[in-house]
Amino acid sequence: MTPQQKAITRALAAGLHRRVVRVRYGVYLVPSTTRDVVHAVSHSPAAPAHLVCSCEAKQHPACVHRASVYLAKLEASGLRVKPSTFAVTATKKDAA
Ligand SMILES: [Zn+2]
Repeated sequence: MTPQQKAITRALAAGLHRRVVRVRYGVYLVPSTTRDVVHAVSHSPAAPAHLVCSCEAKQHPACVHRASVYLAKLEASGLRVKPSTFAVTATKKDAA
């Protein structure tokens, strides 16, 4: 499992993607899973897939906060992501 997959699994397990607060385009707030703090995740308009986080793991390839924003953005676009099938069979909410 890649660091990104691990982070996505953790985000889904914690339901953290449902707690992402969108401040404005490219700026999101995600609560810590372990402490009473909030981390800022952002991206530039030119590189929306390149998420940057304010947490201690920001130098790592992935963190649960960036994964949560990624998932929240997927869901905002109409995709439903399920823990056991993420990234492979994400399905349209209204496909059925
Ligand atoms: Zn982070």
